[in-house]
Amino acid sequence: MTRPTARPEADEGEQDTVALPDREVLKSVVSPEPGPPPVPEDDWTIDDSEALYRVEAWGESFFFINERGHIAVRPLLQQSLSVDIDDVVSDLRRRGVGFPTLIRFQDVLQTRVVRLNKAFIRAIRESGYRNRYQGVYPIKVNQLHEVVEEVLEAGRPFGMGLECGSKAELVAALPHLEQDGALLICNGCKDAIMLRLILAGQQIGQQVIPVLEKFGEFDQLLGVARELGVRPRFGVRVRLGTSGAGKWAESGGDRSKFGISIPELLTLIQGLKEQNLADALVLLHFHLGSQIPDIQILKQAVKEITQIYAQLLKRGVPLQYLDVGGGLGVNYGTGYSNENEGINYTLQEYANAVVYSVKEVCDDEGVVHPIIVSESGRAITAHHSVLIVEVLGTYRKDLIADDYAPAEDANTTVRELYEVLTRVRGPGRRAGKRPLSELCEAYHDAVEKRQEADTLFTLGYLPIEEKALAERLYWSTCKAILAQVQGIEPEAVPAELRALNDHLVDQYLCDFSVFQSILDHWSIGQGFPIMPVRHLDRRPNRRAVIVDLTCDSDGKVSHYVCANADKRFLEVYEPEGNAPYYFGFFLMGAYQDIMGDSHNLFGRVAEAHVYADAEEPDGYYIEKILPGTSVQEMLALVQYFPNDLHRRMNNLIRQKIEKGVIRPKAGVDLLDQYMGCFSQTTYYRPDDPSGDDPSGDDPSAP
Ligand SMILES: *Cc1c(COP(=O)(O)O)cnc(C)c1O
Repeated sequence: MTRPTARPEADEGEQDTVALPDREVLKSVVSPEPGPPPVPEDDWTIDDSEALYRVEAWGESFFFINERGHIAVRPLLQQSLSVDIDDVVSDLRRRGVGFPTLIRFQDVLQTRVVRLNKAFIRAIRESGYRNRYQGVYPIKVNQLHEVVEEVLEAGRPFGMGLECGSKAELVAALPHLEQDGALLICNGCKDAIMLRLILAGQQIGQQVIPVLEKFGEFDQLLGVARELGVRPRFGVRVRLGTSGAGKWAESGGDRSKFGISIPELLTLIQGLKEQNLADALVLLHFHLGSQIPDIQILKQAVKEITQIYAQLLKRGVPLQYLDVGGGLGVNYGTGYSNENEGINYTLQEYANAVVYSVKEVCDDEGVVHPIIVSESGRAITAHHSVLIVEVLGTYRKDLIADDYAPAEDANTTVRELYEVLTRVRGPGRRAGKRPLSELCEAYHDAVEKRQEADTLFTLGYLPIEEKALAERLYWSTCKAILAQVQGIEPEAVPAELRALNDHLVDQYLCDFSVFQSILDHWSIGQGFPIMPVRHLDRRPNRRAVIVDLTCDSDGKVSHYVCANADKRFLEVYEPEGNAPYYFGFFLMGAYQDIMGDSHNLFGRVAEAHVYADAEEPDGYYIEKILPGTSVQEMLALVQYFPNDLHRRMNNLIRQKIEKGVIRPKAGVDLLDQYMGCFSQTTYYRPDDPSGDDPSGDDPSAP
């Protein structure tokens, strides 16, 4: 995959991108003049924040805003037991854990597994279905060992198994099926080595079922089986007429690259019968692709495959399992109306659709009900992990206080800009009666004066401080104009004034990489819920765009899950003084948080595994902290090794010492400092935990 690596300076229109400032500059932009204090009589409540960030839509009852105005989680869905995410963040900070950090709520995983199984159990009971449901977890969705173990643990009472799609996944999964009868479904292309391992698994009584993806695999399977002297059991992935929809649709349907067509299937069965192996085919499978948007498409596919099942059963193939693949969608809060991202069903409706559709066709055809298998990954893992990202600095353009006046001896152009601002802010504003023509004129004056200031600076007539001031005055004027335009009906407002709205959004520079942590946002435009972790009881007073630390111009979050019509920015309450400020990125657990991408050599983020526990004072404990990828590990992936780098740096420094450029002591210190970086994590550390007060504004800190 190639990625644009353009530097951001040539961005659209105004210069609203920031290069990474150094630490001193960061400190100063984090703490501009204090913003306006919260209006005491403000009627904004946490319910308004919940609505703004659509918490109910994506939170699945796990996430909510607590009475302290913090985002919190009820991992076991019990009213009484919740974990305040801001507490966990402060806790981690006290322990010296750097950010970004991924918090895994292991209980949420368990709860999702139980919910999925119970939804099927309920559908089976209510419909009178006469067989059982047996799920498998596709480990590609999140291969982390702890995640797989947690899923298996929670799924044990339901006989839950695993699905693997590659040799490495097979090797990882095979020893994990301790429970008799739990399935291990093997999709993907399989070579002879894999097939031998699978059949060996069958020999020792494990329910390992290879699913043939291509007709050609059939002879290979029978060959290996003959060689090992076993009667194989296998399934086939059927190429259905029904195709999926949405972003991942190419996995199903006529044009998909996977699956065995109906004519091939009949040839295959003929072959089996000739070898007296008709009972080797035990499972039919399809997979429509992830995040199926429309329940009707699913029903259609399920009915189609059940029809095939029924016909084959009647022709003497004793199939046992119907595997409906993955695709159970997750509501990312983008709403049902969004044609690309929404799903139009719940977990229970999905289970009902599968069970009732299979039952209906089987009953019509008078055949026995099969064991229903599904391979839900996204729906199990998405909710359990939250990425916590720290804001390193904010860049806002309008920072001129109301009572500000430039110095007497300031450049005339700057003073004139100030006059434009005073004019716009002057009386008449409250009544909202200032005519549009006057606002337009003020805007044009401001544009002209700013250009003048730029020219003066280029020619050397304006000191840099006054150029900075001119910029601030310009943006403050724009903001004041915009405030007065707000009440006017949009069609009446000239486009150039309306566009100001976009230019005035703040940039929140955050310590993470879009490509590393929310790859699907960058690659397919998937929206993820993002919100500040605290101050959610205050009325948002800024509009923010989140930009990351990579040098790519599209290293930013380009659209947000929120209730506003304009989703290109997020409304937030501003950072206060030097207090650390964090965003939570939610629903990271499926496909995102395990991306081993090494873009710009940012590595894996650190992780904390959190369990809810009513006995603990804050209702949780941190079971484990995994450090993020070190610089050394990251470099090793691209074949740079400490020994070699040390030797080179050593030689370089020795030369400098010999030439008298630096003193030997300084040279040794530099080498130490350089080598010390190898064990650091790859992310930016806003402060040194040993030096700075790590407690921030945490009220519980001493
Ligand atoms: C990826 C995949 C899954 C998982 O799909 P989800 O939509 O995440 O549930 C299931 N089965 C197969 C064959 C897959 O390739």
